[in-house]
Amino acid sequence: MRKTRSRSFPVLIMTLAFFAGLVYFICNLINNAPQWSSVPWNGHISDSDGLSNAGVITDVNGVVLARSEDGKRIYNDDENVRRACLHIVGDNSINIASAVQTMYRTELSGYSFLWGLGSPEIVKQSKDIHLTIDYRVQKAAYEALEGHRGAVFVYNYKSGDILCMVSTPAYDPYNVPEDIETNDEYEGAYINRAISASYPPGSTFKLVTGAAGLENDPNVINYEYDCTGRDKIGDNYIICYAPSGHVDFADALMYSCNAYFGKMAFTLGKDKMTEQAEKMGFNSPVVFNGIRTISSSYDVKDATDNQLGWSGVGQYTVLESPINMAIRSASIANSGVGITPQLITNSADLSPAASEKTEDRRMLSTMTADSLKKMMLRTVTNFYGSYRFTESLTVGAKTGTAEVGDGKAPHAWVTGFTEDDDCPLAFSVVVENGDSGISAAIPVASAVLTKAAEVMRND
Ligand SMILES: [Zn+2]
Repeated sequence: MRKTRSRSFPVLIMTLAFFAGLVYFICNLINNAPQWSSVPWNGHISDSDGLSNAGVITDVNGVVLARSEDGKRIYNDDENVRRACLHIVGDNSINIASAVQTMYRTELSGYSFLWGLGSPEIVKQSKDIHLTIDYRVQKAAYEALEGHRGAVFVYNYKSGDILCMVSTPAYDPYNVPEDIETNDEYEGAYINRAISASYPPGSTFKLVTGAAGLENDPNVINYEYDCTGRDKIGDNYIICYAPSGHVDFADALMYSCNAYFGKMAFTLGKDKMTEQAEKMGFNSPVVFNGIRTISSSYDVKDATDNQLGWSGVGQYTVLESPINMAIRSASIANSGVGITPQLITNSADLSPAASEKTEDRRMLSTMTADSLKKMMLRTVTNFYGSYRFTESLTVGAKTGTAEVGDGKAPHAWVTGFTEDDDCPLAFSVVVENGDSGISAAIPVASAVLTKAAEVMRND
C-alpha cells in the first residue's frame, strides 16, 4: 500500500504539470493567435493567399486603393497612385512592415479564433480600412519628387488627419522588381522614409534652438549680432553659408545664420537644449494607429562646446524623421500643441491596437509658438518669396540644407505650415542629396500644397 502511494505521487505531479501546461498553452493561443497568424513565417497569410478575400482599403473619399476579387488582390488602376501609396497600403508580401496590409493583415483577412483563416463565407468578418489620405495628393507628391529618393509628409494640424505620406524609391505592387534586394536604385525601398528613416535636419533645427532660446528668455528675441560668416565657439569655428551682417533673431532665422543659432545653443547649454528637443519629439518614437516610428535623436552628452554649437543648427549627430519635423511645425502653427497624426478613420472597428497613439503634446508655450509662426511667415514673404509656394495659401516655412559628408550633395529639407482656416496643414519634405532646400525641397512642397488646397476646397 505504502509502495503504491509513493509510486503514484510522481504520476500525480506529472498529471498536474500536464494540465498546467495545457491551460498555459490555451491561454497563450487565445491571446496571441491573431498575432501569430500574421507573422512573416506563417505561409498561409504572408503570401498573396492571405489577402485573397481581404477587405477593401479606401482613401478619404472612398476611392479604392486595394480590394480582393476572385481570390486576387486588385490595386488602384493608376500606376503612379499604386507607387505613391505603396508604403501606406503595402503589397501582397509583408515586406513593408508599417503598411496597413502588413500591420492589419489579421483584420483585413478576417482571421477568427475558431476558423483561423478558413472561416466559411457566411461568418467571415473581413474588415475594411478607411484611410485619411487623398490619392490625388499622394500622386502629386510622388510625381513632384521626380524620381529622387525622399519623403513627403502633410497632415491637418487641427484634426490630425494625414493627407499625404509618400516615400521614394517605391515600386508597383503589381510588378515587384526582381533585383529589388541587389539594385542600388531600390535601396531601402521597403522602408517608409516618412516615418522609419531619420536624417540630419540641418537648418530646420534652428526652430528647435530658437524655441529653447525663447522659452528660457523671452528677451532673446531682441538679441542682435554682427555676422561675418563665421564665429569661434570652443576650439573651432561655426561657419555660415554667407555673412548675413547685422541681424536680430528674426533676421537670423530668415537668413539662416549658423553662427547666431550655434552661439544660442552653446549659451543655453546641453540640458536646456536637450529638454526643448525632447519636448519637440526627439529621443522617443511617435505612435499613431499602433504604428511606431523611428525615434529622432538629439544626444549632446559627449559633445564638445563646438559640437554643441553645431547641434544647434541641426548638424553634429542630430537626426530627425520627416513625421517628427511636421509635428513640431504643427505645434508652431497650433499655439504650441503638436497634434498626433492619424492614418485610419475607422480604427475603432479594427482592434484596440489600431487606436493606440502618442498623446497630443504641448511642445512650446503659446507665446513662443506665435513668435516663431510670425517669423516663418515672414521668411516666406521676405526671403524665399511667396511665389515659390502656391498663391492660394499663406505659408510659413523654414528650409534646411543638411551636410552629409563623403563628398555627397546635402539633403534638402523644407518644413512649415499653412495659415488658412479651411486648409490647416503642416508639412515636411526631404529630398535625399537634393542639394539646396530652396531649390529642391520647396518645389515639391509647393506642388503638394497646391493640390491639397485644390482638393480640400473643392470636395
Ligand atoms: Zn551668419
